[in-house]
Amino acid sequence: MATVLGIESTAHTFGIGIVKNKKILANQRDMYTTSEGGIIPLESAKHHAKVNQNIYEKALKEANLKEDKIDAIAFSRAPGLAPCLIEGMKFAKELSKRLNKPLVPINHCIAHLEIGQITGAKDPVMLYASGANTQVIAYAAGKYRVFGETLDIGIGNFLDTFARYAGIGFPGGPVIDGLARKSKNYIELPYKVKGMDIALSGILTNLRQKLESKKYKIEDLAYSAQETVFAMLVETAERALAHTGKKELLLGGGVACNSRLQEMCKIMCEERGAKFFCPERPLLVDNASMIAFLGEIMFKSGIKTMPDNLDEIDILPRQRTDDVEVTWK
Ligand code: AMP
Ligand code: MG
Repeated sequence: MATVLGIESTAHTFGIGIVKNKKILANQRDMYTTSEGGIIPLESAKHHAKVNQNIYEKALKEANLKEDKIDAIAFSRAPGLAPCLIEGMKFAKELSKRLNKPLVPINHCIAHLEIGQITGAKDPVMLYASGANTQVIAYAAGKYRVFGETLDIGIGNFLDTFARYAGIGFPGGPVIDGLARKSKNYIELPYKVKGMDIALSGILTNLRQKLESKKYKIEDLAYSAQETVFAMLVETAERALAHTGKKELLLGGGVACNSRLQEMCKIMCEERGAKFFCPERPLLVDNASMIAFLGEIMFKSGIKTMPDNLDEIDILPRQRTDDVEVTWK
């Protein structure tokens, strides 16, 4: 049994989670937001530096835990925005030295997948739909493989940028979700699936032109955008299920909070006899419980860096899911 503290800082969210024996004892987070415009990496990093101590104290309090009971410190080392990752790593290394406990570096995308175990998923295909990342991932032949992904921008960035064009602040995804619910009027948009991959920037340009033409209602554009891009995601996820022969679909990432995306996935799973899993919202969005959760699994398998060797550990902003050596399974 181990008690592992996890730190998340890859983009807009700074979080601290605590997990013991696969049970979540704390999940505290604070998100950088803007009233207009998107994420400015250096500003988001400043946000993380400002809130980290407070979030740390809140997490210990929520877990009702003294810090000397922590066995290891896991942190998101990849992938993400470099200034944000650096803040998380700094906090992790300071804590590691002060408490004299080892570090466990984590790939954020794989953490999104592994936390699915909490919902009962055993060997799923994951549709990971978040701000910067959009991938269909599954474990196959010793590694987490990317079966399909966006060729340009992430699905959340797509929704947020569309929202920004319409004068909505960050994050725009939830606002687009609300607007889409007010319409059933589908306006034709390009549909871009290329093999197992998708492309979103052309659709974004098309939406921008439609917005600027002032001929369309924002509700109709929001509805049409969601119907189109979510269908693209579900199509590639279904093909990954067919290809791998797996029988479980797991949703992950902040965009997975969208009820229409959940509904479309559910229908697809029902039609092909697969089980559908979707964690609760606090575990879908960027959070540190999933970092602590995977941290505990890796730590128990012997993966750790002792406080004397912290210089060996660095951030890997562009590490790909399939670059990770999986030695813990
Ligand atoms: P993540 O990077 O995984 O934390 O996810 C953040 C992204 O999720 C942002 O791009 C948000 O706009 C998006 N998001 C959050 N809630 C919703 C929602 N209900 N519908 C669509 N996108 C959402
Ligand atoms: Mg994420």
